[in-house]
This record gives sequence, C-alpha cells and structure tokens, in this order.
Amino acid sequence: MTHNITLIYGDGIGPEVIASAVKVIEATGISINWDKVIVGEKALEDQGMLLPDYAINSIKTNKVALKGPVTTPVGGGFRSINVQLRQTLDLYANVRPIKSYPVKNCLYDDIDLVIVRENTEDLYLGIEHMVGKDAAESIKIITREASERIIRYAFDLARKENRKKVTLTHKANIMKLSDGLFLESGRKVAKEYEDIEFEDVIIDAMSMKLVQSPRNYDVIVAPNLYGDILSDMAAGLIGGLGLAPGGNIGKEIAIFEAVHGTAPDIANKNIANPTSAILSGIMLLRYIDEVEGAEKIEKALTKTLKSHGTMDLGGSLSTDEFTDEILKEMAF
Ligand code: ATP
Repeated sequence: MTHNITLIYGDGIGPEVIASAVKVIEATGISINWDKVIVGEKALEDQGMLLPDYAINSIKTNKVALKGPVTTPVGGGFRSINVQLRQTLDLYANVRPIKSYPVKNCLYDDIDLVIVRENTEDLYLGIEHMVGKDAAESIKIITREASERIIRYAFDLARKENRKKVTLTHKANIMKLSDGLFLESGRKVAKEYEDIEFEDVIIDAMSMKLVQSPRNYDVIVAPNLYGDILSDMAAGLIGGLGLAPGGNIGKEIAIFEAVHGTAPDIANKNIANPTSAILSGIMLLRYIDEVEGAEKIEKALTKTLKSHGTMDLGGSLSTDEFTDEILKEMAF
C-alpha cells in the first residue's frame, strides 16, 4: 500500500532537517507518495498567500503531513501560519513526547513523558487590542468543550501507551474562571478513567518539579500557553530542541513537526540536528500503523546518537553526515 503524505519543507533549517527525515523514512522501504506543498514566505512571494488553498486541500485530502518550521513574516498583520493551520484543521491536540536518548547533554537518562497541549484556544486565539495608546489587552478564552476534549485525549493516550498518571497543570488560584474551568473539566473527566491516576499541579510549581524530578511525570496536560513553555523547558532536560518531536492531531487529520522553530542563526550551514524532525517522522509512521518501520528508525537513530552527535549535542557531525550514519545503521 502506498501512503499519500503532504510534505512541507518550511523555512530556516526546515529544508535541511526535513530532507534528512525523508531520506531516513524512505530507507525503511515503506511506499510513500510525498505531495510537496509550499507555505510561508515563499508561498507569499509566488502566490500572494502565506497559506495557499492548495496546501490546505492537500492536507485535507491526504490527512497526514510532515512539516518543517515555517516563518510568519513580522509586521504586515499576518497571523501565525502554525496557529492558522492548527485552528483551520482543528488539530486540537499538540502531542510532544520528551524522552531521554543517550546524548551527553541529556540531564536524566530515564525521562519518558508526554506533554499534551491544548492547541486551539487560550491566548493563542490572538484576540488583542489597544486600550487607548498606552495599554494593550489580550483575551484568554478557555471553553469547557475544548478543555474536556484535550483532557480526554490525554487520558486516552495514557491508556493506549500503558501510562499510569495524568498531571493537569494550571494557574486556577489566580485565573479562577478560565484556568478554574480547565481544572474543573479535568476533575470531571478523570472520574471516567479510574484506572489512571490524576493530579493537578500549579504551573509555577510544575516548572520546578519537572526540572527536579521529571521521572514523577507520565502524561502532562496543559492549556495552550503553559504547554508551549513547558515543552521547550522539558526539551532542555533531554538535550535541547534538537531532540523534541511533536504532532498536531485532530479527529481525522494530523501534522507532525518538531517543537523547534526555523533557527535562522544556524540555517543553510548543514549543522542543524535533524533528530526532532526524524522523531516527528517516527510519530507519523506509528500514526499510520507503520510500526515496524518506526522501530527500525528509532533503533538506528539511538545507536547513532550514542556514538556520534551533531554540534548542539557536543559532537562534530554535519546534518548530512549524521543522516548518513543513521542510514548505515539501518542498512545492517
Ligand atoms: P522561530 O522564530 O522560528 O521560533 P527561533 O530561532 O526563535 O525560531 P527555535 O528555532 O525554536 O527558535 O530555536 C532556538 C535556538 O535553538 C536556535 O537559535 C538554535 O540555536 C537552537 N536550535 C533549534 N533547533 C535546533 C536544531 N534542530 N538543531 C540545532 N539547534 C537547534
């Protein structure tokens, strides 16, 4: 069977890390027809739109995409392309696994948790306005429907992956209505999953506890903004953004992409770490039930990370050399 998958190379280091992920995925022998689409600055230049209809339609038709990071031009009043994609396609769950691999700058060798971030509301709706000249207001929206849906997703994921505990993070002591509603939703949904432990932790304490004792966490569910900040912080625990993959998952459609952005400081230098993009590819393969291929890549990647590294991991390999090492491992 051939899988049709939309491919977005993206901007900055996107084309380099996505090219690496595609090579590694193709080395599994899984038959894939990559439907390449362009979004972002290049699409704006060529087609006058940051997010052209044909790109959205490709994702809607294929239902699965692998995506590099994309730049939204600053100024010009453009809304973030990433946020637009997640909202237009209702990709309500942002799933970000944080797992230790054998690299020098991983702070703990046995972290294995998943951050489940609500992806459609909160401050990311971008409802902002000036109040006079000297004050600005951002509106934070939290709904019962979106809260219950993401919390249920977190519990279902815990069950599916045989995980034991869901930790909900919030700041309901201050934002009694909005975060209060998220917490209340958590307490309600938790009653439907009595086989899984449930706890709630205030976001500031959560940040400290996650750094001090990451092993205590299994699945963390968070509103949009806290989930975003917490996942970058958690990436720092395992060696940095070069190692953190993600999936934006809806009812029928999913887009897999690394947690990191375009990293313009290291773009076009052949030094970016493609691991996050490759791990996002592994998540994609599991999502389309190509589990054997996913495992083959993860094994080869883990071996390569143990013996070699890219510069962000204190190693010396270029993006291409690192990719070639994985391909060699896969050929064994
Ligand atoms: P954007 O504005 O698109 O979010 P950014 O540079 O502000 O881009 P990130 O791309 O998330 O933010 O990265 C922050 C820093 O982390 C980068 O400047 C880069 O040095 C490092 N980094 C991120 N991804 C990688 C990677 N894959 N390999 C190596 N270093 C990386």
